[in-house]
Amino acid sequence: DPLLDSIASAQQNSSIRPAATLTIQREEDVQTARLALPVVQDEQRIIETIHANTVTILCGSTGSGKTTQVPQMLLENGYGSLIGDSSPAKDLQSRGMIGITQPRRIAATSAAERVAYELGPTYRDRVAHQVRYDTTVSKKTAIKFMTDGVLLREIQMDFSLSKYSCIMIDEAHERSVNTDLLIGLLSRIVPQRAELALEQPEKYCPLKLIIMSATLRVDDFLSNERLFPTVKPPVLEVEGRQYSVTEHFSRKTKRDYVEEMIDKVARGHRKLPPGAMLVFLTGQQEITFVAKKLNERLNRSSSGGFDLSNGTDDYEDGYEKADDRDGFVENEDDDAHDENSGSEADIKVDETFEDEFAVEQLEADHKQPKGALRPHILPLYAALPVAEQQQVFEPPPEGTRMIVLATNVAETSLTIPGIRYVFDCGRSKEKKYDHRSGIQTFEVDWISKASADQRKGRAGRTGPGGHVWRLYSSAVFERYFEEHTVPEILRTPLESVVLQLKAFSIENVAKAFPFATAPEQLQLEKAEALLQNLGAVKGAQMSETGKQILKFPVDPRYGKILVLARNNGLLQHAIALTAGLAVGDLYIPQAQTNEEDDTAAVNTQHQAYGRAQALLSQWDDRSDAVKMLRSVALHAEHYSNGAAEAREFCRNNWLREKSMVEVQQLRKQLHAIARAQSNGALADHPLVPTAPKGKELQRLNQLVAAGFIDSVAIRADLLKSDGVSAGRKPKRAIEVAYRTLKPSISDAGIDRTASPAEREVQRSVFIHPSSVLAKLSPSEMPSYIVYSHLSKAVAATVEGKQKKTRMHPLTPIGPKALA
Ligand code: ADP
Ligand code: MG
Repeated sequence: DPLLDSIASAQQNSSIRPAATLTIQREEDVQTARLALPVVQDEQRIIETIHANTVTILCGSTGSGKTTQVPQMLLENGYGSLIGDSSPAKDLQSRGMIGITQPRRIAATSAAERVAYELGPTYRDRVAHQVRYDTTVSKKTAIKFMTDGVLLREIQMDFSLSKYSCIMIDEAHERSVNTDLLIGLLSRIVPQRAELALEQPEKYCPLKLIIMSATLRVDDFLSNERLFPTVKPPVLEVEGRQYSVTEHFSRKTKRDYVEEMIDKVARGHRKLPPGAMLVFLTGQQEITFVAKKLNERLNRSSSGGFDLSNGTDDYEDGYEKADDRDGFVENEDDDAHDENSGSEADIKVDETFEDEFAVEQLEADHKQPKGALRPHILPLYAALPVAEQQQVFEPPPEGTRMIVLATNVAETSLTIPGIRYVFDCGRSKEKKYDHRSGIQTFEVDWISKASADQRKGRAGRTGPGGHVWRLYSSAVFERYFEEHTVPEILRTPLESVVLQLKAFSIENVAKAFPFATAPEQLQLEKAEALLQNLGAVKGAQMSETGKQILKFPVDPRYGKILVLARNNGLLQHAIALTAGLAVGDLYIPQAQTNEEDDTAAVNTQHQAYGRAQALLSQWDDRSDAVKMLRSVALHAEHYSNGAAEAREFCRNNWLREKSMVEVQQLRKQLHAIARAQSNGALADHPLVPTAPKGKELQRLNQLVAAGFIDSVAIRADLLKSDGVSAGRKPKRAIEVAYRTLKPSISDAGIDRTASPAEREVQRSVFIHPSSVLAKLSPSEMPSYIVYSHLSKAVAATVEGKQKKTRMHPLTPIGPKALA
């Protein structure tokens, strides 16, 4: 494109340099800490490169100062002047905010807080954050931290992003779907802005794009002809200050890494010289469980530390032992480490890649005098309130050792000072999606080698003498760990992605959009077929319905339900229900009980659980969707009386408090959007839905079916052609076989990878034991069911024990209503 060329060369030749600069006086200790950061030491080179190029890629290891320092440097060098500010000194070339995107809310809010603190009282109001449900942005905002989803929405409103002078895409190495989409879109917005700046310099300035990555793996962005066709962006590498870290692999890889982790950390805490510990686990519940056990074990006499009031004992909902692939050995012969449980033995150095130096180093460490440190255990995960997250940045109390139990937010997003010992379980919980079957799961699976490296690196920031204990053997590491994490776009449903791109008039998504990593053509076609079925797309273009669906920041399926509900008087019901479905994971399953548990206590608990289930499914005891609706409605009433009452309600009824709060926030957001479209016809606040009566119930079920029109299952014994139904008669509801629809319900979406035989066979599915339908007798089971998810238990690979595919949550629907 000659225009692109000319813009590119214009950009190259006249390096753009804002005239106005800003000098910020920072507190002395802040300034000292900044000056030690590699990014600040390299300020000159970084700023020159950004001045001279429209797109810059900046790589620097975690903790080098990318997130907190580059925005401040840009501000000091004249970018981010306020749009409303018309004083002549302000340079038009830099008008607009400095926007920084993060894949996670936790990173956006905590980085904004940190930068505000570093900027000091005079300038702290220049920085703000915006995440879903929460923003501090004002007229004074010059630096805006936000989630990548927030910026994507803004591009839909204003494609040229005229409010910004710079956009920084942070954590690009994580390859979240939103980040990938943003980079693709920005590769088009940047030249467009350059053009606008030439044509209307009084209105637009060129847009700077800075892509930041904690790793050097940026090839997908660089060597992609379509992404940056004219000029390859320069790659700046900031040297990290990384001390070497001693690696300790386990000799055997245990399946129950949670127990092993508790053991190892407890022994490590008793034996190791001072230094903070960072423990990588997979999720919130697991962290709560480990915190509780460690507190019990290490704190027998003293109290304090971590507040357990929110803790539940079941550390993972539906949690299954990690895997059954070979390479796993449970408690086999010579794991000397385990036999030496506890007190007398020093912490063992396991099999290691390194030479004996590791052992010597550790033994030398042990000879250092040490007092008995008390543990200072802190959890760190995305859903934790910001104030509690901030605790990891505070110096621990005198005489304690900080032990941070974290998910992979601590891998690159947050840098905790003073970490010397890392314990890595080697797993993470990832969203997985099987495109062919449509089954989505949250699986605990091995991390990549690159992630393991990042985790290890957390022990090498403060000084020498860092160690990492890996709860897996080097053989497992070599055999099962992928080199890099698979980009999220390859493991997620694409309906939402395709619809968003159609909104930008990109008709042929596969051909026209510069994906950093392109999803398979077939998957894009499937997504398109579903959008056709929802009526969101007509031909290749987004329809009017599609536009309305897209207004709601939820999956297009839920958007469809909301759009339909507006016209049939069930809007409040649909809002509450889709909020519940979209947030998901609202219920805490009944705890598994052990034989030795006190039976009286167990009985009481069972009864309370039963009462809660009866209360929640009172409106209709044959529909999970209606149960969810009632749960949300009841919670809403308590929530309006304050957080304490809502918490109490959740506790009494086996509801997850965090999820329920998010449901209420989403309800409010969805309602506000619907209200804006209704020209004020709706009330200010969402009304609490009441019990659906008579026809309403049927219409509600139909609404759900409209959003999940491809997710209807029919009872297998109703199908004449079905050979399987001749088998053993099911004794329980959960054994009743259903068949899903054939893979395609329109011509557009035929699964070409399936053999003709496979296409004929419908998938055999069963209801989930958590469903309200599970208590019915087999003969009472409905003929048709609408489901929202298919799932399979994680450990599905034990030979001969193929787990069943289960549907949940469920809405029964009559044949007439379905038609
Ligand atoms: P990067 O983005 O390159 O990983 P950051 O800018 O996040 O690096 O962090 C730079 C340094 O600032 C880190 O070494 C960390 O110790 C410190 N830091 C970051 N956030 C905070 C905070 N909230 N409190 C205290 N120190 C912080
Ligand atoms: Mg960062």
